[in-house]
Amino acid sequence: MKDLSFDAVVIGGGAAGMAAALVLDSSGFSCAILEREDHLGGILMQCIHNGFGLHEFKEELTGPEFAGRFIEKTLKTKIAVYLNTTVTSIKPDASYSEGKGAGVYKELFCVSPDQGVLHIHARAVILAMGCRERNRGNVRIPGSRPAGVYTAGLAQRLVNIEGYIPGKEVVIIGSGDIGLIMARRMSWVGCKVKAVVEIMPYPAGLTRNIVQCLQDFNIPLYLSSQTTNIYGNDRVEGVEVTPMENGVTLPEKKFRIDCDTVLLSVGLVPENELSKDAGVELNGTTNGPLVDSSLMTNVDGVFACGNVLHVHDLVDWVAEESRRAGSFAAEWLRGERPLSQIRVKAGSNVRYVNPGKFNPRRDNNIYMRSMIVKNDAVLELRLDNRVIKSVKERHVQPSEMINITLGPKDLEGVNAGPDSVLEFSIN
Ligand SMILES: Cc1cc2nc3c(=O)[nH]c(=O)nc-3n(C[C@H](O)[C@H](O)[C@H](O)COP(=O)(O)OP(=O)(O)OC[C@H]3O[C@@H](n4cnc5c(N)ncnc54)[C@H](O)[C@@H]3O)c2cc1C
Repeated sequence: MKDLSFDAVVIGGGAAGMAAALVLDSSGFSCAILEREDHLGGILMQCIHNGFGLHEFKEELTGPEFAGRFIEKTLKTKIAVYLNTTVTSIKPDASYSEGKGAGVYKELFCVSPDQGVLHIHARAVILAMGCRERNRGNVRIPGSRPAGVYTAGLAQRLVNIEGYIPGKEVVIIGSGDIGLIMARRMSWVGCKVKAVVEIMPYPAGLTRNIVQCLQDFNIPLYLSSQTTNIYGNDRVEGVEVTPMENGVTLPEKKFRIDCDTVLLSVGLVPENELSKDAGVELNGTTNGPLVDSSLMTNVDGVFACGNVLHVHDLVDWVAEESRRAGSFAAEWLRGERPLSQIRVKAGSNVRYVNPGKFNPRRDNNIYMRSMIVKNDAVLELRLDNRVIKSVKERHVQPSEMINITLGPKDLEGVNAGPDSVLEFSIN
């Protein structure tokens, strides 16, 4: 077993992991990226469509191009990159049970076909493991179990990386971004995409994807419609769709769409098995770690960023957030700690707010998601029930993250104590 030691290790070599590692490296700390795939870049490498980097690079890139810019920078630094390396556990470091390193060092075990078992000691750990797709088992669609049912991300990998086309006539269940992108991709490779079926009354994906991936290809989108059966024995033969009204299915209106392939785009779940094992507390709404104003989890020195923290709509925000995680981890390594923090809470019509704490002494970037679709909405911030700020939002919808910067200026003339709560609501 190989023993290694770093100031910080980053788990995951996607956009989040690389962005965080680059900051740690430029702050003078020794740092390693541990990545289970045989390449850096994460999910971006299978997203060959454009639409990435408009905020980060002020130009429109494909996923691999966006990743390529980070990979190029990463490989020019002293960051140690371990590919084909899966982290299997993070624990308080048993070699430092007493003395200066006690409670500071963590030990990680990783497996790699090239290196065998790696035993790594690190003071700070950044969780950047991304997320995974929900599958048929997670959404309980009735019917038989024929071949031809894929998650949209798996189909994307088959088409874009492996060079296989998984079917000819396709129905997509769920209108998440991956499903929308795949509706267009499957059309381009010669398949007939017959419909996208969405249980909610509004699409789950970005508006630009509805326009560019469905409307431009005349692909029908059935909103408020539940998939109530998948037909077929050996291979998928069709799906049954039942329209809904006010959340109730209308069986008399059900209809069948013949197809040989079903793609599921029914949501993403942050990949936190490893985090849970390390004692990291999770947020029941996002399924990501609960973090304070410095993106640190309840485990001292363990930080989280990117899709493992909460599922982001754009990689640009992943990069922005992860740079901050890297910089907060560097501060922590230098022994700096936030002097005071105010608890942050989701109020009416807000699904979640991240991070869960606010540092009143510096600017804080706060991300949230709306629970409603509304034009001319108002985002209201209340500190201990007193409105301290109102921000006009031209349009809000659950699929698009809202981002706001809040700093000491916003608290001028307000008395905030240790029990204060900052609540975000949308009206
Ligand atoms: C189909 C699709 C379309 C998208 N379209 C757009 C778009 O048009 N514009 C846009 O801005 N954004 C888009 N996004 C979103 C964007 O790609 C992601 O938000 C971003 O790339 C996530 O980065 P990440 O580093 O958090 O996660 P990932 O890229 O998933 O990276 C996580 C990495 O962690 C590794 N890992 C996990 N567990 C372990 C472990 N135990 N040990 C070692 N390594 C581990 C994984 O192998 C992976 O490489 C899209 C995403 C998808 C899936």
